[in-house]
Amino acid sequence: MTATITDQREAAVLVDVPNQLLIGGSWRASSSGATLPVEDPATGQILVHVADATPEDGEAALSAAVAAGRSWAATAPRARGEILRRAYEAIVAQVDELALLMTLEMGKSVVESRGEILYAAEFFRWFSEEAVRIGGRFATAPDGRTRLLTSQRPVGPCLLITPWNFPMAMGTRKIGPAVAAGCTMVVKPAAQTPLSMLALARILVDAGLPDGVLNVITTSASGQVMEPLIRDPRLRKLSFTGSTPVGQRLIEQSAQRVLRTSMELGGNAPFVVFDDADIDRAVEGAVQAKMRNVGQACTAANRFHVQAGIAPEFTRRLADRLAAMTLGRGTDDGVEVGPLVDDAGRTKVAELVDDAVRKGATVATGGRAVDRPGYFYAPTVLADVPATARILQEEVFGPVAPITTFTTEDEGIAAANDTEYGLAAYVFTRDLERAMRVCESLEAGMVGLNLGIISNPAAPFGGMKSSGFGREGGAEGIHEYLETQYVGIAAS
Ligand code: NAP
Repeated sequence: MTATITDQREAAVLVDVPNQLLIGGSWRASSSGATLPVEDPATGQILVHVADATPEDGEAALSAAVAAGRSWAATAPRARGEILRRAYEAIVAQVDELALLMTLEMGKSVVESRGEILYAAEFFRWFSEEAVRIGGRFATAPDGRTRLLTSQRPVGPCLLITPWNFPMAMGTRKIGPAVAAGCTMVVKPAAQTPLSMLALARILVDAGLPDGVLNVITTSASGQVMEPLIRDPRLRKLSFTGSTPVGQRLIEQSAQRVLRTSMELGGNAPFVVFDDADIDRAVEGAVQAKMRNVGQACTAANRFHVQAGIAPEFTRRLADRLAAMTLGRGTDDGVEVGPLVDDAGRTKVAELVDDAVRKGATVATGGRAVDRPGYFYAPTVLADVPATARILQEEVFGPVAPITTFTTEDEGIAAANDTEYGLAAYVFTRDLERAMRVCESLEAGMVGLNLGIISNPAAPFGGMKSSGFGREGGAEGIHEYLETQYVGIAAS
């Protein structure tokens, strides 16, 4: 049922982790017996193998979720909340072990992994409290002849698909509200980072989650295993976090049955700095918004629009900060910048930087891959990036800060909104009226005002435009997993 990961230099056991599918409360191998390798992106070496599910395994997982659905929906909200609360406490108690596991499969530094795990745990704490606050309404109709009773109930079996960049938090942000609402589920983590999700599933089982409420499928054939589930009439909800192109494909697949969906897709966040900004705060915010997860975040500042008066100093100071960051294997002490997740990710970053430089951008720091094992790219600041550079339109997903300048407030807003995406945006100014004007003009689901990290379990996370629809976290998050029913009652 479990596998151990050992340190290849010292042969010491580092972590013990489940490596099979969780279906109906049992850990089992793939029906084909196949496994898929999980790689350490800091070394390119295989850490462990996990079960490689077939479409039949996917079907068995959905059947288990359907079978558990009725009794789970009838479980007392307090009991559902208390399971989440126990899981929250268990995650916090195991944070060091979980952080090491995440760093090994994903590459980010252990400091960042700890941060993600504590953030992930907070979704369970938040939704343990929301489980007992699912309400309804009672009203008299305007004509006085009918009473209107409104209630909310679980939407039913859900399919939850998560990406590799935040292997645990993207899971708890869906599992927490689904459990709280009384839904059962099949979860599919990314093939590159299945281990954190499997460890999380073990914690939920140990916390008392009944068999079949949570089923976990790991597979190297996402499309083949997921599509039949999306088309299965027993499935009632799809929640997806990942890239916009895959999200579009899943929306098409969902359309046939009018399946309810939530889509947390790609981003291209602008980071707008006005001349009147507190420059210390803006540089600090830029480092956080750019370098969290080595830039591999949907909320990552993707392009920096800086007012002309402050641009030279901002560029110099940001370049100094990024150049001073310590790069290395995420498990080593003091490392701030780990590798990118794979060679394809690094190649894309290099291509976007080369394209910008070819079109006239200048390299203030970095601008190259790092010559060592693993997929490292040097923290990079590009100045004078022309509007035609691809890097201003595409999600870079790496440690690169392209800077462009603007003159007037309207120009700054127009540049910020010049993208098909609308997930996050950042604004730095000390002028309150300007701050309100700009925030209200931005086409983004989330805005950081003088703030470089906006993710918060108590706030609604989600995007506009091609960044998707639906909100996760906050008071809004549980509604993605609830169905509203109204009963009209004859009163006279
Ligand atoms: P991705 O390639 O779209 O994959 C996301 C998930 O979908 C993975 O589990 C993947 O599994 C699965 N998948 C891929 N093809 C599929 C298919 N045909 N049918 C069903 N599932 C499929 O995205 P990624 O590269 O992992 O993640 C990075 C992207 O996620 C970025 O665009 C980022 O902005 C976005 N993101 C958005 C948010 C948000 O909240 N808005 C948060 C984090 C990340 P396999 O990888 O195993 O194939």
